[in-house]
Amino acid sequence: MDVNCVVVQGRERCLLVDTGSTAGEGQRLRTAALEIAAGRELVVVNTHAHYDHCFGNSAFQGTPIWASAGCVRDLLETGARQRELAAAGWEPKDPEFARALAAAPLALPTNEVEGRARLELGGLSVELEAVGRGHTDHDLVAFLPQLRVLIAGDLVEESGPPALEDCWPFSWPRVLRRLLDWEPLTIVPGHGRVVGPEFVRRQLGELEELAAWCLASLDTPRGGRGPALWSEAELRSALARAAVERASPG
Ligand SMILES: [Zn+2]
Repeated sequence: MDVNCVVVQGRERCLLVDTGSTAGEGQRLRTAALEIAAGRELVVVNTHAHYDHCFGNSAFQGTPIWASAGCVRDLLETGARQRELAAAGWEPKDPEFARALAAAPLALPTNEVEGRARLELGGLSVELEAVGRGHTDHDLVAFLPQLRVLIAGDLVEESGPPALEDCWPFSWPRVLRRLLDWEPLTIVPGHGRVVGPEFVRRQLGELEELAAWCLASLDTPRGGRGPALWSEAELRSALARAAVERASPG
């Protein structure tokens, strides 16, 4: 699965956002990041606990890894199960990758963010914010205010429709509206090409449509089919989460 891992270089420190799916991918990213860092200290951020964004963490022993507190909790709770499911899912398509996934050591982030934190890279600040429920219940974004670049993790996806399996349909649009309020010019999605705010506004519209369908379906369970962008299975999992969300708004 192609995930966007981002290197941001300041005068004193170099930041890598997300570490890939396996120890080998993490190792290759570490080598590439250290080459760019050229002697500068390396700092790592995980946007969320899905395997393709953080199972390369084991290659970064001794390097601080920042993530939301919820990401650490989720990785502890779901890491082993995710590894098993992902390896089984990849086995028919790419047995070698599946083996590497099954063998990926689970390495937890070392620095937890509650709310906001700032990393100073030297001449360049990076605002980290744990934005709450969206693509997962613990997404964290990295924003570079000087450059108005937003590294959004899977809160924004360009290569396909936003993935719904762990999503919170009612909060996700709120989170995107908040991110757009920061007026980013360049947005790095979790997957696919770099986009501008127009793309995010479009995706916000799709997610608002999803939220409206979830709301209508909770009230009339045999209502019409949901937005065509997603499969029935994805819509079912979004709807199940919407029911939880309505019972306990976060
Ligand atoms: Zn994800």
